[in-house]
Amino acid sequence: MKEFDLIEKISRFFKSPAKGIGIGDDTAAIRSGYEYHLITVDTLTEGTHYRKEWRKVFPHLYRSIGWKLLAVSVSDIASMGGMPHAAVTSFTLKKDFEEGEIVELAKGLSAACNHFNVLLVGGDTVKGNCEAFSLTLTGKAEEIMTRSAAKPGDLVAVTGICGDAAAGLNIIESGKIDTIEKRKLVERFLFPRPSIEMGKKLVLSGVKCCMDNSDGLLLTCHEIASKSNVAVNLESKKIPVSKEVKKLFGDKAFKFALSGGEDFNLVFTFPESLKSLFKKEKNVFIVGRVTEGSGTYIDGKPAQISSFDHFGG
Ligand code: ADP
Ligand code: MG
Repeated sequence: MKEFDLIEKISRFFKSPAKGIGIGDDTAAIRSGYEYHLITVDTLTEGTHYRKEWRKVFPHLYRSIGWKLLAVSVSDIASMGGMPHAAVTSFTLKKDFEEGEIVELAKGLSAACNHFNVLLVGGDTVKGNCEAFSLTLTGKAEEIMTRSAAKPGDLVAVTGICGDAAAGLNIIESGKIDTIEKRKLVERFLFPRPSIEMGKKLVLSGVKCCMDNSDGLLLTCHEIASKSNVAVNLESKKIPVSKEVKKLFGDKAFKFALSGGEDFNLVFTFPESLKSLFKKEKNVFIVGRVTEGSGTYIDGKPAQISSFDHFGG
């Protein structure tokens, strides 16, 4: 069974908040007076999200796990148009855990707390058979953007280069970081920098539909199409791919840009009336258009949706 199908099954047991959004968007959003309280949780586990062998080429791996643990949730808050506030963690450690690495992780997490202006206020530490780090983040927003607000006629945009993180993962897996270019891509994968300011800017400009592309551009567009009951049409030549990735990976670069995850940019849709505003933004790339219908298309052809799914399929 696929991850999305399982979440759908679980969600049937729980009703949504009377005012706001429950399961199904980047964060939950509970309306309270004039604002929304946002809450989200994410987990990084050994084997699925990182491998200890990577330390051979990147000795500060655990610093990056700490950084990323917060950054991935900040990305979800940013995609709703919110400001992050406070975090609690949960660490599951194996019996023979390495103390130095957990201290290294704490340093990375602390650096991320400073960078994103988040207060870490508690957590839980337990023993288990698989190492896992989980973080719950709260935030606030006056207005929110959702996955379900795309409208036919809207344009589709992404707030950064696509595929750098997937290329970085590929490089670290290859076991060799021997150039500055490769190091830059690995750092894009290990130390993502979601933009809270960009999320804020979008929501203040009147954007209603947004999602972060943590699972890759195609899957994100597919999810927006499905939740909004529309079709998303992408133009391949408009999808931004970095020159480093093109140089290092050739034809594979475009696959990374479409299906590679963890870039932590925002994908959003907006009406034609906002086009002049976004056309001059350096980090906004208009990549397609929303139409009536369903599904995701590239250059008019149905897209092959492939990206990481925790349970395959
Ligand atoms: P993201 O990639 O933005 O973190 P996910 O793809 O992990 O989001 O999850 C999609 C939606 O499903 C989110 O709203 C999330 O809160 C919800 N969700 C995922 N797993 C569960 C679960 N076990 N129980 C309840 N809700 C879940
Ligand atoms: Mg998300």
